[in-house]
Amino acid sequence: MLDYDLHCHSTFSDGTLTPTQLVTRAAGREVKVLALTDHDDVAGLAEAAQAAAVFGIEFINGVEISVSWRSFTLHILGLHIDPHHPALAEGLHGIRSGRRQRAELMSESLARCGIGGVLEGAYRYAANPDIIGRTHFARYLVEAGHCKDVGSVFKRYLVKGKPGYVPHQWASLEDAISWIRGAGGIAVMAHPGRYTAGRKAMGKSTLIELLEEFVELGGRGIEVVSGSHTPPQYAEFARYAKEFGLLSSCGSDFHGPEESYRDLGRLPDFPLECLPVWTAWEKAAA
Ligand code: AMP
Ligand code: MN
Ligand code: MN
Ligand code: MN
Repeated sequence: MLDYDLHCHSTFSDGTLTPTQLVTRAAGREVKVLALTDHDDVAGLAEAAQAAAVFGIEFINGVEISVSWRSFTLHILGLHIDPHHPALAEGLHGIRSGRRQRAELMSESLARCGIGGVLEGAYRYAANPDIIGRTHFARYLVEAGHCKDVGSVFKRYLVKGKPGYVPHQWASLEDAISWIRGAGGIAVMAHPGRYTAGRKAMGKSTLIELLEEFVELGGRGIEVVSGSHTPPQYAEFARYAKEFGLLSSCGSDFHGPEESYRDLGRLPDFPLECLPVWTAWEKAAA
């Protein structure tokens, strides 16, 4: 088992635990190295770092940046970043500023199908209103009795082709990687097994083009062991890591005790031959 968990969310984005609660849970589950990677915001890192110090957990500053690439929304993790770096801070601010308008459009669109009051309802779930997102909508729609759980809300209302889905322009791949690199971090392709455009999974040839571009722009890692990957996908993405000379990362993508694919920590080992992403910063510190 790996005792590194380099991908999780707090109430500063769409997780349900505060940074302190999250770190406490990680400590109880014997995580030794933890990165907090909230969507498009670094505001929870200071609290998490403080809590990690109490438990003797090594804490890595992280972020998960929303990116539009061709017809896909991608997530790029920045690990070991300086959260105060101006270009990164400004870039993230730019992405966040579009979320309110998207939320308004989502709510209007749902109202047209007879589901009202969703904007106010969703904001009640967004402890950090700057990061209002689909998960907050989903939680409210469950509360209001429209679906039995968050996953069903996504399927029925919040993915491409459904009434609450509103297309959005996020950061470019080039900008996201350049902000991460500028802030001294390592850019990692998050959960490559999860990308879809509508119901269609990203094909192999598109994934290869994406990884070529990612590497060319300075991307350095890929999530091999992710809470949202199956064991055959660990092997598949380990092969891509090798082929593209990428470092391998691992993370639960934990969002909360009730909603996650996997709990914090407790990730199976990498397939053989993977070079862990932490060699990048552990080497630099040695
Ligand atoms: P947003 O950035 O507001 O578009 O929301 C993206 C977030 O929605 C992801 O980070 C996940 O937490 C969540 N999400 C996306 N697809 C699903 C799904 N099918 N089931 C549950 N949660 C999902
Ligand atoms: Mn999320
Ligand atoms: Mn993600
Ligand atoms: Mn995530």
